[in-house]
Amino acid sequence: MTATAPITQDVMTIPRAIPDGPVNLVGLTREELRTALIDAGTPEGQAKMRERQVWQWIYEKGVRDFGAMTNLAKSYRALLAERFVIAIPEIVTRQVSADGTRKYLVRIAGGHEVETVYIPEEGRGTLCVSSQVGCTLTCSFCHTGTQRLVRNLTAGEIVGQIMLARDDLGEWPEPGRAPKDETRLLSNIVLMGMGEPLYNFESVRDAMKIAMDPEGISLSRRRITLSTSGVVPGIARTAEEIGCLLAISFHATTDEVRDKLVPINKKWNIRELLDALRDYPRLSNSERITFEYVMLDGVNDSDADARRLVQLIKGIPAKINLIPFNEWPGAPYRRSTDARIKAFANIVYRAGYASPVRTPRGEDIMAACGQLKSASERAPRKRTAPAE
Ligand code: SAH
Ligand code: SF4
Repeated sequence: MTATAPITQDVMTIPRAIPDGPVNLVGLTREELRTALIDAGTPEGQAKMRERQVWQWIYEKGVRDFGAMTNLAKSYRALLAERFVIAIPEIVTRQVSADGTRKYLVRIAGGHEVETVYIPEEGRGTLCVSSQVGCTLTCSFCHTGTQRLVRNLTAGEIVGQIMLARDDLGEWPEPGRAPKDETRLLSNIVLMGMGEPLYNFESVRDAMKIAMDPEGISLSRRRITLSTSGVVPGIARTAEEIGCLLAISFHATTDEVRDKLVPINKKWNIRELLDALRDYPRLSNSERITFEYVMLDGVNDSDADARRLVQLIKGIPAKINLIPFNEWPGAPYRRSTDARIKAFANIVYRAGYASPVRTPRGEDIMAACGQLKSASERAPRKRTAPAE
């Protein structure tokens, strides 16, 4: 497979609106919003201004009711209410971990469910957003990958997760007082929930554009990190069309092991992946790429692995994020020992790379990396460990 192969995936994508039903404005790009307003009878000469007003109500102020849009004429508000809805996914359950992590089970159209996780940290708060129900990929250490049903989330369902978390955190600003990045409860987004974001590219892109828009949620592109298992053709597109930071689920230093852990490696191997990454920081004007590396006891955690890892990524501005494996029922791996993780981290550090070990958050509520899976989809499908 070459790097220019089209990105195709055989998954269900639902249309943005129920035919003839009201159109949901959440998730439309600014251009789409303007077109929708014109189609509903807004005079073209006013459309740009109306688009801006409606946009600000929805994304800057968090308003869901057209009646509350007080800078619009009453008759125009009534027209909007007839033609449109402002709908976000519904929180089904909300669990709060002993460490403050919040896990939301979120219901989307069709009765499907995804999980969204809010992680409070000193001086910032990160929302881990899902991009698909389940995942078509089957990484052997990942709980989400055992879920069979897959559907792409719409842009509205993706940005809607940010909006529902802000609802829950009570973080819609007073009119005219946009929150400062440093004081926001929800200050960062990671696309590290359920799903492979680059297999749902357009919706992820549109949702992130909405989140970055300065007249709305207004998150800097440097506060958004997209994590991919290595969908090579999507990497340059991410740089060009989103411009956010990038994280790569690397996890192995030989194709033999990576084929087993991250099977997409059979399609785009380590060499092709690294070639695509060399251009990324320049194209997206971003600083460093995060290499995520899950520590699996006896599988990928030797000193030789650590040395190969730093050799492989030579020349790429990078940091390496070591993730202690989070266990889930039926998982075929064990977490590396603390001593092993430390030894590995030391080799990486001595080679000049920041190598933070990710502290598992929300483990008691199964909210940690790789533990997410829809409750409605918990039919066990055990994995067997790949032969050593
Ligand atoms: N599909 C994307 C994004 C979601 S996964 C991707 O794979 O990058 C988010 C991160 O959690 C990835 O780095 C993934 O490899 C990691 N992960 C998955 N299962 C895990 C587990 N059981 N323990 C620790 N990390 C895990
Ligand atoms: Fe999908 Fe990412 Fe899990 Fe792999 S690690 S199965 S790509 S969600």
